[in-house]
Amino acid sequence: MKKKAFVLGMARSGYEAAKLLAKDYDVLVTDMKEQDEEKVKELERMGVSVCITDDALSLFDSSYDLVVKNPGIKYTHPVVVEAKKQQISVINELELAFLHFPLDVTVIGITGSNGKTTTTTLVYEMLKEDGKSVLLGGNIGVPVCHLLKEMKQSDYVVLEVSDHQLCDVKDFKTHISVLTNLFPVHLDFHDSYDRYKEMKKRIFAHHTSNDLAIINKENEDSLLLTRDLVSKKEYFSSKTNQASCYLKDEAIYYKEEKILDTQEILLKGVHNYENIMAAILVAKACDVKTSSIQNVLKSFKGVEHRLEFVRDYQGVSYYNDSKATNCESTKIALNSFDRPTILILGGLDRGHSFADLKIAMSHVIYVACYGETKTRIKEFCDSISVPCQMFETLREATSSAKNKAKKGDVVLLSPACASWDQYDSFEKRGEEFKKIVLELGEK
Ligand code: ADP
Repeated sequence: MKKKAFVLGMARSGYEAAKLLAKDYDVLVTDMKEQDEEKVKELERMGVSVCITDDALSLFDSSYDLVVKNPGIKYTHPVVVEAKKQQISVINELELAFLHFPLDVTVIGITGSNGKTTTTTLVYEMLKEDGKSVLLGGNIGVPVCHLLKEMKQSDYVVLEVSDHQLCDVKDFKTHISVLTNLFPVHLDFHDSYDRYKEMKKRIFAHHTSNDLAIINKENEDSLLLTRDLVSKKEYFSSKTNQASCYLKDEAIYYKEEKILDTQEILLKGVHNYENIMAAILVAKACDVKTSSIQNVLKSFKGVEHRLEFVRDYQGVSYYNDSKATNCESTKIALNSFDRPTILILGGLDRGHSFADLKIAMSHVIYVACYGETKTRIKEFCDSISVPCQMFETLREATSSAKNKAKKGDVVLLSPACASWDQYDSFEKRGEEFKKIVLELGEK
């Protein structure tokens, strides 16, 4: 008799998992939300049952051999609780894919509270630039099961791994793991910071002394958590040269070797230099040439919408940081520049205060604000004596920013608000900003 698998939550990862399982299992996929019709039909053609229901538990029983859970579903979900009670294995799509990896691929896993996507992308670009056969996936938006078709012996597999994904892995093991940093986030999901950290630690699970752990020397919680690892350890530091990769005299060094002056790097901000240093340590461990690393750093404009360099126009540098939907992220963006900066703020009004931006705004010479929050932003700017004008739309605000900017200035969209008053998503807002900026100067 065929074994039975219960896929809890469809979306992209459940869909990919179900396709992989369909060969060996009778598969039932459940989800609370309606799913893409084409995908459902495709699964059904493969013999997979798909059921949209609020009550997945009523479909679950002890006849199942395996539960594959979407990472977004909490460990307290009734099906998960019941499966564990019945000693039925609960895994996720990452673990399932891992069990199908060819034996000699090099697995690189990147996790941390911030900087995962940037670091993962940099690692991928550096390996690719060096001519290596490399695949990119995981939390970055490409389910790992999807990579299996293309995966060959001795490939490099670069994976962004979230704490949610690390909750339901058992055998998953990397050869090289990065922990970018640790901060108390996602506590609603994990219920405590200790549990969150324990999940993050699993990125190093099953490591031996042949495997490599890459750790941020300036993040106390990361240091404490990784104290007892048996892995080889390499550290990066933005503050001291007592690390394998470090910042010194506005340049990045790997051991004794100068990699590049920060001036030549398009990505800006100490947080990004930390991501770069983590990526360099991975690249060096994979024997990537320094010239390949340099080529990537000189041309990589950043992950889209995260302090992404758009263009230089009339000596002014334009950056798109549309992903900054709160003051915390806008502060990080502002701290990444010491040049005079024109800041575009505004968006959905959640009633949050802008006062937290005050210290980081010391080099802001003008604010163009728009959207639902414009009046409150104007009041805040008036209170700290920063010139500010209100507009209805991002286009008008950008046009005003361009008129105020002088050679050497930065124009930064880092709105400190969600986009939903005028856009479907922060991506759409960032795309519009880039379009406006790329059209500057055209008649
Ligand atoms: P993640 O994938 O972990 O969400 P991203 O690389 O997508 O991280 O960056 C998202 C945002 O997080 C950035 O726009 C920036 O505000 C902040 N960030 C990125 N890297 C770091 C870092 N190393 N330390 C602190 N904050 C960071």
